[in-house]
Amino acid sequence: MNWKAMDKTVREGKLFGILKKWQRSLGLAHWDIVMEIKDQRDPDLQEAKGFINWVLPAQAALIKILDPVEWEDPCFRYVPEKTIIHELLHLHFAPCCRDLENNSLEHVAMEQAIIRISDALYRADQEALA
Ligand SMILES: [Zn+2]
Repeated sequence: MNWKAMDKTVREGKLFGILKKWQRSLGLAHWDIVMEIKDQRDPDLQEAKGFINWVLPAQAALIKILDPVEWEDPCFRYVPEKTIIHELLHLHFAPCCRDLENNSLEHVAMEQAIIRISDALYRADQEALA
């Protein structure tokens, strides 16, 4: 997807469409999810392209993702769809993984699992579309 060729409104529309699609696919349609598209100055996006915080009993979450036009690194591709899948998957792990310490073995294992699962889901979806 050529994000830079789209104006902000079109880009946002596409990104919200992607959020809705994966919210449904992942069985999270009943969650109340707000997504903000931010630039790299956002303190939650200093070391990541996505961020999520949630209130489990309310089934409400805030996702922040990096605006794809902000991505400058030519060596690594930024695929916002994968980031959105990744952040949504955190909600499935939320009941058991809320209090994991950031660099604990369990936290790293959970992140690794989420990275692998989001990659696999994204790839399978792309293959299905091809
Ligand atoms: Zn993560």
